[in-house]
Amino acid sequence: MADLPAREAMEFDVVIVGAGPAGLSAAIRLKQLNADLSVVVVEKGSEVGAHILSGAVVDPSGLDRLLPEWRNEDTPLRTQVADDRFYYLTQTGSLRLPNFMMPPLMSNHGNYVVSLGEVCRWLAQKAEALGVEIYPGFAAAEVLFEGDAVAGVATGDMGIGKSGEQKDSYTRGMELRAKYTLFAEGARGNLGKQLIARFHLAGGREPQKFGIGLKELWQVQPDKHRKGLVQHSFGWPLDSSTGGGSFLYHFDDNLVSVGFVVHLNYTNPYLSPFEEFQRFKTHPLVRDTFAGGKRLAYGARALTEGGFQSVPKLTFPGGALIGCDAGFMNVPRIKGTHNAMLSGQLAAEAVAAALVAGRAHDEIADYESGWRGSAIGKDLWRVRNAKPLWSQFGTVLGIGLGGLDMWCNTLGFSLFGTMRHGKPDSATLKPASACTPISYPKPDGTLTFDRLSSVFLSNTNHEEDQPPHLKVKDLELQKRSEHDVYAGPSARYCPAGVYEWVEEGGGAKFVINAQNCVHCKTCDIKDPNQNITWVPPEGGGGPNYPNM
Ligand SMILES: Cc1cc2nc3c(=O)[nH]c(=O)nc-3n(C[C@H](O)[C@H](O)[C@H](O)COP(=O)(O)OP(=O)(O)OC[C@H]3O[C@@H](n4cnc5c(N)ncnc54)[C@H](O)[C@@H]3O)c2cc1C
Ligand code: SF4
Repeated sequence: MADLPAREAMEFDVVIVGAGPAGLSAAIRLKQLNADLSVVVVEKGSEVGAHILSGAVVDPSGLDRLLPEWRNEDTPLRTQVADDRFYYLTQTGSLRLPNFMMPPLMSNHGNYVVSLGEVCRWLAQKAEALGVEIYPGFAAAEVLFEGDAVAGVATGDMGIGKSGEQKDSYTRGMELRAKYTLFAEGARGNLGKQLIARFHLAGGREPQKFGIGLKELWQVQPDKHRKGLVQHSFGWPLDSSTGGGSFLYHFDDNLVSVGFVVHLNYTNPYLSPFEEFQRFKTHPLVRDTFAGGKRLAYGARALTEGGFQSVPKLTFPGGALIGCDAGFMNVPRIKGTHNAMLSGQLAAEAVAAALVAGRAHDEIADYESGWRGSAIGKDLWRVRNAKPLWSQFGTVLGIGLGGLDMWCNTLGFSLFGTMRHGKPDSATLKPASACTPISYPKPDGTLTFDRLSSVFLSNTNHEEDQPPHLKVKDLELQKRSEHDVYAGPSARYCPAGVYEWVEEGGGAKFVINAQNCVHCKTCDIKDPNQNITWVPPEGGGGPNYPNM
């Protein structure tokens, strides 16, 4: 390290890591409050939206607060929800739950079906028009400190070869120094994870819980399209002890977003979230939607599921966590965008006030003390037991009790208090010897697909000659435990086929096809020994989602 050239440094009032809904809302709010502030956003995707993957049915409350005039403009929120359906599936049948039985907070009335990537590109234009500098293609790779306070981030060096040597294209990263730094990396942020550990932000909280969400975007035949139809299901193909479910959103001109979420506290190492998603599409309730249609895009991303009791302390000297880096996703509603936008605004307001008072590099305590009493806290409080009830009682009883508890919370009380989540998702797998292998049907290439042809549709691209961005701490442990005890679940939970155990010369070799990685972060969450760490690769690498 000693012979590395010094990094150039630039000074800002506020640096924001991540151009998702949280980061962009924070940037816009800061400039609305004080046009003179210097605000910069770094984004690891090749362009804003390139790494954004969501459902998405968006509750507009976050946007209403940020840009109250948005309804008078031409925006990517074009499709209002027209029909809201919720089903329980068996292998061949389906039972629609009447809307009147659903707790009112579950209603999608007034929400919009969107591509969140497109919404982020629109928000980025709004931010730039206010004078925010946005740098896509730059990953924040390191947190900078002054004493014990966060003082900005450094972008990663570019042009380093596989074995760490500097190539001709070598360029040293930049230091982006700031009075306050907001971390908006989304679920399982790499820098967020380091900050949570360093400042003990998760102390006294329940462990964060996660799901993996897989999604395809389809163009369907016009007679199969029901613009504004929003359909969710639970049950088949998952067994009753595995949490998760599907979403199917019809929007714009003949577009359908179809996706499947598997809660990452599943126990059977033979389960493959990808194959469960493919199987789901064959159900009689949905398969006809895709007849004659064309699959346009594929991708996957982790989402946070811990909710109210898992939100870490949000602030530390010099900065804060916002959006899903903190974990504001409302699980039963499958909605996090509104809270990501609201948290960006709350943090921005606390930062702007601190700057006006001449402060820097201290804690913006108002944000931490205020969120529970804000719309975010109210949204998450009412659903806080839905996930633990599902985990403890299985799908049918758990969802029933969760529904009852949400009704009670609507009336201001709970039968269960505040339930705990228990173990982190890395600790829930059973040894393979205690589980039954699952045999999945072969893809037909029309409705169901294999992993590699799917990854192709994510337009994923990484510079091949660069240091590995999937760091395995102890390869021997990976073999002894992940392979020998758990039968190599990484080969099944990774939605991009990055991990393979290849039998070679009487032994098993762990092969990592890092260039396929779609940055979903599941390996960082689910590896049973927490032996795999995802770090940002060279900026611009990863998926290039068109409109996910
Ligand atoms: C399958 C699925 C379906 C969902 N459905 C819905 C839905 O229907 N409605 C809803 O409201 N919510 C939904 N959500 C949740 C919603 O997408 C999230 O709550 C929301 O995107 C969180 O916003 P964010 O800004 O915190 O993070 P993200 O949207 O994840 O954005 C983070 C950004 O930061 C960038 N980044 C990360 N690390 C770095 C780094 N080190 N350097 C530079 N850039 C970095 C990323 O590339 C990304 O662009 C869904 C999520 C998934 C996965
Ligand atoms: S390697 Fe990890 S982060 Fe990348 S796609 Fe696979 S599971 Fe997701």
